[in-house]
Amino acid sequence: MLAMATSLVLMVSGFVWLTVSPSMNTSERLVRDYLRRLADRAPDQETAKRIAAHLDIQIRYEGPEGAWATAQDLPTIEQAAGAAIGQGLHLAPGRDTYVFPGPGGGSYLFSWEFRRRIQSAHTGLVWLLLAFVAAAVFTAHVFLRRLLRPLRRLHEAVTQLSEGRLDIVVPSRTRDEFGALTEAFNQMVRRVRDMLRARDQLLLDVSHELRSPLTRMKVALALLPEGEKRRGLAADVAEMESMITELLELERLREGRGIQLRRQDLVPVLREVAQSFEGRPPGVRVVAGTPQEVVLDLDGDKIRIVLRNLLENALKYSLPDSGPVEVAVSGNHESVVVQVRDDGPGIPEADLDSLFEPFFRVDRSRSRNTGGYGLGLSICRRILEAHGGGIAAANLAGRGASFTLTLPRAG
Ligand code: ADP
Repeated sequence: MLAMATSLVLMVSGFVWLTVSPSMNTSERLVRDYLRRLADRAPDQETAKRIAAHLDIQIRYEGPEGAWATAQDLPTIEQAAGAAIGQGLHLAPGRDTYVFPGPGGGSYLFSWEFRRRIQSAHTGLVWLLLAFVAAAVFTAHVFLRRLLRPLRRLHEAVTQLSEGRLDIVVPSRTRDEFGALTEAFNQMVRRVRDMLRARDQLLLDVSHELRSPLTRMKVALALLPEGEKRRGLAADVAEMESMITELLELERLREGRGIQLRRQDLVPVLREVAQSFEGRPPGVRVVAGTPQEVVLDLDGDKIRIVLRNLLENALKYSLPDSGPVEVAVSGNHESVVVQVRDDGPGIPEADLDSLFEPFFRVDRSRSRNTGGYGLGLSICRRILEAHGGGIAAANLAGRGASFTLTLPRAG
């Protein structure tokens, strides 16, 4: 719009210049002829005054029949004498001065401001045009902002959707293309939500259904003779059982269910979990400066699960030359922040957002060594969200990953 406005102003002012300049030269020639003719007449102060009042041409006469001028600020003939007779002289900006010989040896001086007037009229026109264009641009801007409001709302909704919020509904207030787009977007969100619900429900149902055959398998396993085969099968059954337990746990935590908050101190919980990893290389260290007491509304058992998961991962992914895993507590009057930092390989930047999705693993090929089904972090997120807090992952500047837990202050 600004580019359009600028080119419009340039076009109009260029057009004015192209049409006004030639006509200004013609007018100047005509006026000069007229003045030359006037100068042929005998000096007459009354006629000169009339001309000055009507045409705004100031006249000075100096000669044998006296000396007079129609305005005080006119230059004298002597001052203007430097110029060739009959030639325009620019003694002041925008003002043309002419000297012509009069009858009987006298001289006339004419002063004319036509050029300055045309210039100021032109400038005024350009300013007026600028004001019109500014008003038009402003009106168009306000109008466009209103027109694009549904698009802004949709943009906000898409951002929220990409952050994982599936409960959004964008109000559709217009019946135009934007209204149709909004309606299509809402329908898409509904369908995605239904699909995810169906997926979760399926997982839940399958996990429930698998429990009975699993129990039967465990009984049958106990009847098998001791040996390599039985040990292998027992390991597989145990793995299946832990996966099913984690899945059911994940489902139980949905929408804050299964959480029992109690006002208690977080620091002993933290120290107790850190201590339970004693002896596991490269070690766990609660950093100095941790507050003596941090009282919060917590489900202690669930927070233990979170800390255990994070420390287990941090130790599991540490490298042979990694330093100890660090646990730090800080906070402000609104929330408490617990950070678990390791010195491992870190997490690929592209995977940071997906890390808390169920079944997400950076290394897609699950092996017995690195264990896990990619459920641990999604359980952690559900637990923290049920506390009204959150969890985020980031890579540290040099090496390693950091997991930041946020818990709201009690009350
Ligand atoms: P898993 O049971 O596979 O460990 P999680 O949900 O706990 O599942 O973790 C998901 C994935 O996140 C892991 O498979 C791993 O790739 C990555 N991850 C988690 N913690 C770390 C860490 N401290 N350093 C590097 N990668 C990690």
